[in-house]
Amino acid sequence: MKKLLPAGLVVDHLGVDRVQIEISARTARGWAACPECGSRSGRVHSRYRRRLAELPAHGFDVRLVVQVRRFRCCTVNCCRAIFAERLDPGLTRPHWRRTARMQGLIRHLALALGGRAAQALGRRLLLSVSKDTFLRSLGHGDGRDMAEARIIGIDDWAWRKGQRYGTLICDLERRRVIDLLPDREPATVEAWLRAHPQVEVVARDRNGGYGSAIANALPEAVQVADRWHLLENVGAAFLSAVQSSMPAIRKAIGSTRLDPTLLTAAERLQYEGFRRRQQTNEMVRHMARDGASIKQIVRQTGLSRRLVRQILRGEREDVFRIRESSLTPWLVRLEMEWSGGCRNGAELWRRLKGDGFRGSLRVVGEWATRQRRAERALQIGAGKSPPARRIARLLTTGRDHLSKADAVLVAQIEAALPALAQARVLADQFTGMVRNRSTGLLGSWLARAEDSLLSSFARGLQKDQAAVSAALSQPWSNGQTEGQINRLKLLKRQMYGRAGIALLKARIMAPA
Ligand SMILES: [Zn+2]
Repeated sequence: MKKLLPAGLVVDHLGVDRVQIEISARTARGWAACPECGSRSGRVHSRYRRRLAELPAHGFDVRLVVQVRRFRCCTVNCCRAIFAERLDPGLTRPHWRRTARMQGLIRHLALALGGRAAQALGRRLLLSVSKDTFLRSLGHGDGRDMAEARIIGIDDWAWRKGQRYGTLICDLERRRVIDLLPDREPATVEAWLRAHPQVEVVARDRNGGYGSAIANALPEAVQVADRWHLLENVGAAFLSAVQSSMPAIRKAIGSTRLDPTLLTAAERLQYEGFRRRQQTNEMVRHMARDGASIKQIVRQTGLSRRLVRQILRGEREDVFRIRESSLTPWLVRLEMEWSGGCRNGAELWRRLKGDGFRGSLRVVGEWATRQRRAERALQIGAGKSPPARRIARLLTTGRDHLSKADAVLVAQIEAALPALAQARVLADQFTGMVRNRSTGLLGSWLARAEDSLLSSFARGLQKDQAAVSAALSQPWSNGQTEGQINRLKLLKRQMYGRAGIALLKARIMAPA
């Protein structure tokens, strides 16, 4: 019987009625220490009983009735005349109505299920505990994590998209969530930050009022704009430049009939894309030969992990394009023959071969096929321009993998709208700066962007220049916070959107 109870207790009596087992017990020790002066006393003043809910057993409710003694303090000058003995924290805590292990079980059920479902399951397990008690049990975590965080990330998350938002705070060094605030008001965040003066670095995105809240509460802290958002913002800025240029783009696409110089320009664009890929491959392989790990290469080049792997495994060799490159010196000649009316692959090859071309018939045949396809695409597409989003993608990220028809389109647009071509170059440079963390170039970039189609984006950066500059120099970024917000979304969905903040907070902060 003794072994069934926590150490330090002596069982006096065990009673079983129809629904309940009642265990009466008392502490074994004959004395207790005064909480005020620390001296031991064995002089019992009085006794009272604490009834604690214990884990159910054999289909019975179990009550543990502990007799607690009050002692007189024997120290002459102690201000505590009488004190109650403390029970072991492994048994229970002051004011709890349950044993510690019962409380732990309740907390784990609430963590796993939330209030309502925990109550339902609890009834099956003979835990007659209310939904609110389950939820309250989640609040017993300690605030130690919060007090230690020096480098934090802050971002908002949606309770309900477009309607209600909260704020998530992440310890970027320890890689975990340390708090969840019920809204995203600057005042709420400011109050939190004031209560945590140990914070030195705060990563945050650029919209919303977090910037001013941080400046007010912790003027000494370094603010870091989020790199991921910077990349997203520059993409959006370029897209809006394309959108505002759409009338001119439509005109450029619509008015041009098929022009051989454009086809040549398109070939060149495709070739440039191929060259860029080759250079990247070369650089990555070179770094690997010098002993850099994949992780280091990713960090230094800003390329994705997947891409770096592909390159190192030799999966990114572009055979088709390599063969095409033997054709490059002959492109102008081919264009001439083509616009002169020679549309037959074999005939084209014979003519080139006569002049010293050493490539195969197949290379020329494939070129002729692509050329025909491009012309057809252009004729079908004439007068009907692709949407701005697609054009923006072709000009930027899609640039290295243009089909012939798209390459012609890009060449047309860039020839007709030099300002847009310039904005594209600026956007590329900015992306490169963020990826490669080149702080020194920010000032000159801002100066160049001032009069471009990206001017309003550049002005926004200027207002937030310290944080943007920190984003390029500091290793910290909010990418991790984004990840935690995705975890939060998942938890929220598991709880069918009915979760209160206490439950969400407890669940996201609970050790995985
Ligand atoms: Zn005392």
